Parts: sequence; C-alpha cells; structure tokens
Amino acid sequence: MSRIDPETLLQNKGVRPTALRLLILETIARQSEPVALLDLEAKLGTVDRSTIFRTVTLFLAHHVLHGFEDGSGSLKYELCDNACSCSVEDMHTHFFCEACHRTFCMRTTHVPQVALPDGFVQHSVNYVVKGLCADCRRRAERRGEPVD
Ligand SMILES: [Zn+2]
Ligand SMILES: [Zn+2]
Ligand SMILES: [Zn+2]
Repeated sequence: MSRIDPETLLQNKGVRPTALRLLILETIARQSEPVALLDLEAKLGTVDRSTIFRTVTLFLAHHVLHGFEDGSGSLKYELCDNACSCSVEDMHTHFFCEACHRTFCMRTTHVPQVALPDGFVQHSVNYVVKGLCADCRRRAERRGEPVD
C-alpha cells in the first residue's frame, strides 16, 4: 500500500478525518489481506459495531475502500489505490484459499473484460480463483494429503 498518510488520504477523498475514521482506516491498512466486516470488528474490539458498519459504508461511497465477494460468504474490503474509481476497469483478480479462508490480491492480473451483448450494462464483476495457498499446500503435502 502507498505510504500516503491516512489523514491526507481521507481529505483527498472528501471524507472528514475524525479520530475514529482514522483508526478504522489504519486498521484496514495494516492488514496484508482484504478483510471481512467480522475481522474488522474483532480487531477493533472496543468500537461499536454499527459505527464500524457506517464508517465502512461511508468509505465505500467515497472510494476509500472497495468490496468484493470472494465466495467465502462475506464481503471482503480492501483499500483503493490512489486513482481507483472502483469501476470494473480498476479491479484485479483474487485468490481464495479454501483451507485457511484468506483472500489474496492478484494485483498484476486484471479481471477479464467480457464482451456483453448490445444493451447490457455491467455493474460489478467478481473474479476469484480458489484453491490452496502456498502455506496450506505445504502443510497438506507434509500430512500426505492430496493438493489438487
Ligand atoms: Zn476502489
Ligand atoms: Zn491457505
Ligand atoms: Zn485485492
């Protein structure tokens, strides 16, 4: 993630940087992988759940975060890059590990563009590869479990 300071980041995106918003933003920025709302609530133990939800909704509206479905059943959130408009053109693919349920960003692989028939409009796209991450694959191999 870019090292722009969180306060400037929020101001640039038109969000007033309150202490709580900064705390939530910094918590998300510290994660190496996209987070679900539940993960965020667990990491922000003392912060009221509805406040977290409202802040995430605000961040989504201002392209501070974007959300996507990774097939785990809950939406995952990640910080937008500087110029992200959260359009399909800005989206990269993700890898969901079926063993540890972590989601990894495949930032260098853009989601494929699908040629839609006349009159169709796309609003979102989820492109998720599922399988085992390197850690879980090694663990499975050590236990002699099948990895494919
Ligand atoms: Zn975005
Ligand atoms: Zn894994
Ligand atoms: Zn990602």
